[in-house]
Amino acid sequence: MSILKVARLGHPVLRQVTANLSQREITSALMQKFIDDMIETMKEYDGVGLAADQVHESRQVAVLEVADNPRYPSKPRVPLTVLINPKITPLSEETAEDWEGCLSIPDLRGKVPRYKHIRVKARDRSGKALVFVASDFHARVIQHEYDHLNGKLYIDRMRDLSSLSFLQEFARYGMRPADE
Ligand SMILES: [Zn+2]
Repeated sequence: MSILKVARLGHPVLRQVTANLSQREITSALMQKFIDDMIETMKEYDGVGLAADQVHESRQVAVLEVADNPRYPSKPRVPLTVLINPKITPLSEETAEDWEGCLSIPDLRGKVPRYKHIRVKARDRSGKALVFVASDFHARVIQHEYDHLNGKLYIDRMRDLSSLSFLQEFARYGMRPADE
């Protein structure tokens, strides 16, 4: 396995809409190795999610996992999940604002509104259909990765930029519970 290079804000690959994968592409040895590399890269940088275009592959693949993560302490756990060709449907209009960061926008955090409850339809890494409901932080991570696959970054979703903070200042002044 290898650690992949992460594209940063300003790289055009982050603004492209990624391409769907066929069943045959999903199960190819090349794609299976790429998915392993994505998982390793996410863990290496303490991410809770990673989209393929963040590592310069404009394809509909995202990985996510929330375990004991120093970048996101005290967040509920989410098992390691691979989402291929994902589609999201909000289950209600209800949204919440909370802090997000992004490996492609290093050292920054900002408050982003997201749907609280969503239904997710995708394929897993074996190409099997995956349908589930996600709420709160789990739903937030999936919406963040889904946005990546559609060329969007969290800063595009912020209602205003006044909460945008460097991590050091966030730790000092920004840990207050999100206004909801
Ligand atoms: Zn991101």
